[in-house]
Amino acid sequence: DRLVGTDADGEDRAVEAALRPKDLGEFVGQERVREQLDLVLKAARARGATADHVLLSGAPGLGKTTLSMIIAAEMGAPIRITSGPAIQHAGDLAAILSSLTEGEVLFLDEIHRMSRPAEEMLYMAMEDFRVDVIVGKGPGATAIPLELPPFTLVGATTRAGLLPPPLRDRFGFTGHMEFYAPAELERVVHRSARLLDVEIEGEGAAEIAGRSRGTPRIANRLLRRVRDYAQVKGDGVITQRTAAQALEVYEVDARGLDRLDRAVLTALLKLFGGGPVGLSTLAVAVGEERETVEEVAEPFLVREGLLARTPRGRIATPAAWEHMGMTPPQQAGP
Ligand code: ADP
Repeated sequence: DRLVGTDADGEDRAVEAALRPKDLGEFVGQERVREQLDLVLKAARARGATADHVLLSGAPGLGKTTLSMIIAAEMGAPIRITSGPAIQHAGDLAAILSSLTEGEVLFLDEIHRMSRPAEEMLYMAMEDFRVDVIVGKGPGATAIPLELPPFTLVGATTRAGLLPPPLRDRFGFTGHMEFYAPAELERVVHRSARLLDVEIEGEGAAEIAGRSRGTPRIANRLLRRVRDYAQVKGDGVITQRTAAQALEVYEVDARGLDRLDRAVLTALLKLFGGGPVGLSTLAVAVGEERETVEEVAEPFLVREGLLARTPRGRIATPAAWEHMGMTPPQQAGP
């Protein structure tokens, strides 16, 4: 597991419950989504109605699960949490839907990975609060309509564009979650440190924030590793120095690149003069699978403007040379 990976590992899951903001006021950043959602929820409450269905799009670890819990809390409603891959058959979804209580929030993570029949059942459930339960098989099968209490679906997906338009259109509101600015992550780190009872200096929080790839989940994870280091090697207080030293040990550099990211850049710069080089060639040079380079390392390098994917192959940008402390070879003169 990568320290800078975005999916929740076992330890994340164990502590995340304690670190989750409980209401919109506590939720750091995402001003636009927060403001829009605040209006949606206030209006629903004023009407005494169930809130509209909400779609949240954005990378893992940006706070989609947290927001869904806040929506439920603000509506004074219970929440049920499941995910697209957990719903194999339409029957699985029917079972969940038919057990919802009035006003309940259903959080469906990775909604783009639901099976087709389940998806179609969901259309009707979202629009008419009704499902057709199919009883029997073959020509004798009959559809028995089942009324559902009004509920709020909160769907989460990495990209809204992954959803079929008919599903996307059934959400009353779509919130696009952005990566967090360093100053916002600093606030996340300070808040988590307080909850974990860890003493941290402003510059220590800034150091962790700068290495967290715009992602609160990573910021919280790095904070825990730095806390360990500060306890073992120091007096437990997180300063800029302890944070930098600890993350050096874990091979997460000043910009949040880890060993794999740096290996890809190093190969690209040292062996191929900054490219262009084909993905397969680059992967062999790094000693990794093509998919690992393409899906695990590259997205962040591209986002950071360190690497570009071009039709002729991968190229390093001037920022990559600078970040790795290397000078590009002289261009051939005229
Ligand atoms: P997602 O569902 O998008 O993968 P989560 O909601 O599980 O992300 O958030 C991951 C972790 O990051 C949680 O521990 C949560 O406390 C923290 N977190 C996410 N967004 C924020 C935020 N805006 N403010 C404070 N903490 C946050």
